[in-house]
Amino acid sequence: MANIVIAGAGAAGINIAYHLALRGAKNIIIAEPGTVACGSTGKAIGGVRQQFSTAHEVRMTQESIQFFEMLGKELFYQVGYLFFATTEAGMAELEARRRLQLPLGVPVERVDRARIRQLAPGLNTKDILGGLYCAKDGLADPPAVAREILARAVGLGVDVREHTDPLSIPAAKLVIALGSYSVQLAEKLNLTFPIRPLVRQLIETEAIADLPDRLPMIIDTETGFHFRRKRDRAVIAMGDPSPRWQYNESVDESIVPDRMLRFAERFPPGAGARVSRAWAGLYDMTPDAHPILGKINDNIYAACGFSGHGFMKSPAVGRALAEEILDGRSSIDIDPFRFERFANGAHFESDIIL
Ligand SMILES: Cc1cc2nc3c(=O)[nH]c(=O)nc-3n(C[C@H](O)[C@H](O)[C@H](O)COP(=O)(O)OP(=O)(O)OC[C@H]3O[C@@H](n4cnc5c(N)ncnc54)[C@H](O)[C@@H]3O)c2cc1C
Repeated sequence: MANIVIAGAGAAGINIAYHLALRGAKNIIIAEPGTVACGSTGKAIGGVRQQFSTAHEVRMTQESIQFFEMLGKELFYQVGYLFFATTEAGMAELEARRRLQLPLGVPVERVDRARIRQLAPGLNTKDILGGLYCAKDGLADPPAVAREILARAVGLGVDVREHTDPLSIPAAKLVIALGSYSVQLAEKLNLTFPIRPLVRQLIETEAIADLPDRLPMIIDTETGFHFRRKRDRAVIAMGDPSPRWQYNESVDESIVPDRMLRFAERFPPGAGARVSRAWAGLYDMTPDAHPILGKINDNIYAACGFSGHGFMKSPAVGRALAEEILDGRSSIDIDPFRFERFANGAHFESDIIL
């Protein structure tokens, strides 16, 4: 019998296994129904930020960023995140976030148009009123990071089994870390996880000549439109006009022209860039867009429902779950993210903008 079976070799499961092994736990098996990083981890845009609007999320991502920094420049490109606003309401929202973030130690900087052009040469700032920039935020390649942490975990004795049903391995403790598919595994254990899959689509361009070397993640606060540099290409994202709540990860070609137009308008050196590929993955949404973390009962733990932010939180989640499993409590406060918060029912908003 395994001591601990972790269901899922995505960013969450791998980090939990690694932190368990770091703390000396033995006989840990990651049981992956498909292949390593075949879920959202393999589809994510790779943004890592501490600019959140709740203190718990700020602290969790601060902890994670320290871990990403330790991985080094090859795996974590610390180019920053730039949120800009084009309306007074957007500016007020950014200012409220800044007031929350500063006392928590987030080195967030108010930026005007001139500073934005310095940080992101080529960006069209005509309609921009200002923004926030945090140089400590950055970008990564999630499957590459996942494989690196997995290699370290394996080096510490973790056993990884692909194409394996997690319930086929008898275990003292089971950790559910299957993203959107956590629902089905939980059901088999008579648990109802309030998680719904939401399709999220990304578009990658072909090479663009004048993409600045250290282009931060660029985010339009009001619309959620954002893009990043990936080598000599741009990767573009935005929520669908009508949220697609489904497991089918199909690409909706009809939204591509609008995204490319937005990109060309915001970043004129990219006008005329051709689409190299588009793909879609799943956000594992909970009703409050926060994850389900920690102990469910004596044998079962959860780390799922990340609602589109699980990669950047995964190192902190790994340590938190490892401590809770081994010591009974975690030094990272995960109480706001406990399953029990849904005890009185869970309500999904029909319309959400992400
Ligand atoms: C388009 C997109 C962009 C994202 N961008 C970011 C970002 O910038 N920053 C960030 O922090 N997070 C981002 N996320 C979310 C992030 O990818 C996940 O929260 C994170 O990787 C944690 O994943 P996980 O380990 O919980 O589960 P996953 O990696 O989703 O899955 C773990 C395992 O569950 C099973 N599984 C889950 N989903 C599927 C599926 N669809 N098909 C088959 N098997 C599946 C597989 O066995 C898989 O290996 C993004 C997600 C998507 C889809």
